[in-house]
Order: sequence, then structure tokens, then C-alpha cells
Amino acid sequence: MDELSTLYEKKIQLTCPHCQQYVILIKSGYTCNKKEGRQIRYKCNLCLKTIRAKHVSLTLNDLHLKRQSVYSKIENGERKPVRQWEIYDGKNANFNDYLDTLSSIFKRDILQKKVKLLKIQNKKLIDVLPIADLHIGLSSDVYTTDEVNTTEKYKEYCISAFSKILHDTPQSDHLHICNLGDYFHFDNFKKTTTKGTFQSTDVSYHQMVDIGITVFINIIEIAQTIYKKVTVHSVAGNHDYHTNIILLKALFFKYENNKNVDVVCNYKNIQSFTFGKSIFIVTHGDKIKKKLQDVSSAYFSKKWGECEYRYIMTGHIHHKILKEQIGYKVESFGSLVGTDEYSYGHGYKAQKNIEKITYHIEYGEVCRKTYSKKYLT
Ligand SMILES: [Zn+2]
Ligand SMILES: [Zn+2]
Repeated sequence: MDELSTLYEKKIQLTCPHCQQYVILIKSGYTCNKKEGRQIRYKCNLCLKTIRAKHVSLTLNDLHLKRQSVYSKIENGERKPVRQWEIYDGKNANFNDYLDTLSSIFKRDILQKKVKLLKIQNKKLIDVLPIADLHIGLSSDVYTTDEVNTTEKYKEYCISAFSKILHDTPQSDHLHICNLGDYFHFDNFKKTTTKGTFQSTDVSYHQMVDIGITVFINIIEIAQTIYKKVTVHSVAGNHDYHTNIILLKALFFKYENNKNVDVVCNYKNIQSFTFGKSIFIVTHGDKIKKKLQDVSSAYFSKKWGECEYRYIMTGHIHHKILKEQIGYKVESFGSLVGTDEYSYGHGYKAQKNIEKITYHIEYGEVCRKTYSKKYLT
């Protein structure tokens, strides 16, 4: 029996010289010549091309016969063999060469595609941290919700959570902090929203303002240790139309002479800023709702027209909605705030999270990271 026939009979796999796959031989017909007479022709079971003896570097002689196994049955008190087979291993040096060849094929496939690592191109990127609906001052107890929330506990949580987010792989030298409104839970001594709806709280107005400003200053101070430049944008929400003015003014005076921190002292309900080919529109989302794109393109028409990427960022609804329309994206961001009596009673149970997004000067949004509230605890 020739080598090819032996490989065929024993169903031993070999490398096909044509397709380089690990295959077995199948019969494809016969060849006849005067010298050798009639011979079986074999082909690859995958690419179906003929494989000749000269192609095959692996022969049965290269293998090491490990053992012979016999399956037998007892018939009429006598054990009779039914089937027998041989098991080979690759102790022979030639077989190891063959394995080396095989592994080199795999290595070639994997290692040739070297992945280029992303380079941090500081000047071409900005990080944006949208802070939506922090509602500092909110409290709740187990009589009305499933959670106990206190303002003092929330203050500690916020400072620690923002520290973790900011320290987590910054992509750029420049951070934009965008307060999207409802940073404070209530807006006056009566502990109501701007329009007069009573809010559940465990602190006085004075204490809430004090804690809110302290938390924001902590965020900026931490950010300053990580980023070379920090820009702060802030829009008011329906819970803090008046108190947002106090927050902005306090931050502005605190960082007035700091070259690395720029607090944008803009009290308008809808604001914009640009970076390269991107325009960002920030607003709370309680006043202008469905016509946000129309209003944005009308208010900021020049920049809106010049930019290729347009992002409208809102808060207010405490959950994620992201709609990509032709030429712009409009997005509401989630909140880290706990559930109070009002939210619990209305069945508002969204995922609590916050995001940090990176934008490229040419390509717009290039990556983002979402942090769940519990993960930041
Ligand atoms: Zn809110
Ligand atoms: Zn709101």
C-alpha cells in the first residue's frame, strides 16, 4: 500500500498544498500509466484539488505508533475481535516539524494583523461631562419610597463618584462640564420648585445652596488636577431657575482669576459652544421640547450651519432618550439622584447613571463611557 492510500485508509489529516487547510483525503478516481499501472487518485476534501504523493510531507513512517486497540465481543464463550484500530502520536521529529508548520500557519494569521493602539491626541479631543438633574437637597424615607436618601450622604457620594469618573482614563487635556439643570432640588425658602411645587427635603434652602456649591467646587478642583483646562457651562432647570444664578455667580467669582478654569457666566435657558466641526446645544429640556432642533438652528444659525456634527443635550426626564436625526442628535441624560416620594408615586424608575463623552475636532463623538450609580458607590 502506498503512503497516500495509507493516509486515506487511516483517515489521517494532512495539510492540503492548495488550500493550506488541515484536511483528509478523499478518492477522486483512478490514473493509469504503463509504469505503475492503475492507481487511485486522491483529492482534498475541502478544495477538491488533487493531492499527489510528492505533495505530502507527512507519511505514516513519521508517526509513532502508540498502541493498537481492539474492540471484541464474547460469542459462544469465546472472545472474538470485532474492530481494531491504531493510535499514533507525534513523538517523531518529522511530525513535530509538521506541527510547527501548522502552528506557524495559525501564528501568521493572528500576528500579522497588528492592532494599532489609539493614541491620545490631547489637542484634537475634548472630554464632556454632562451633569443632568443632580437634585441636591432631595431626601426620602421608607414610609414613601424604597430608599432612604439624605442630602449629607448624597453630598459625600457625589464628591466620591465624580472623583472616580474624572480619574478614569481622561482622553484629553480639556474638560467641559455641562450642568444640564435641576442641579438643586428646590428653589426657595418655602422648599418648592420655581413654580411652587413642594419638594421633599431634609435641609434648609441655605444648607442646600451651601452643599451644592461645595460639591461643584470639589468637582472642579478634582478636574483641575487631571485636565489642563476646565470649562463650566450651566443651564437652569424647572427646580432651580433662581438658584442656578447663585451657583453660576459663586463659581464665576471663585475662578475669575484662574487661567485654567473658565466658568461661562451665561444665564440663558439655551446655550451653545463649539469644538472643531461639532456644535453642542445645552438646555434643560422642560421649556423647549419638540422643536429643539428648529430653535437651535434659528438661535445659533451661523455655527449650526458651519458645523458638521450637532449635539443637543438635555436633562429633565431623568432617563436616556437618544434620537439621531438627519444632521443632528438630540439626547437626554440620566440622573444619579435617588427616588423621592414624587418619583416613586409616579412610577419613575429609570436606570441611574452618568456618562463621559469624548469628541474629536474632526470626527465629532469618538467614544463614551457610562457609569452606573451603584458602580460609583
Ligand atoms: Zn429633574
Ligand atoms: Zn426638570
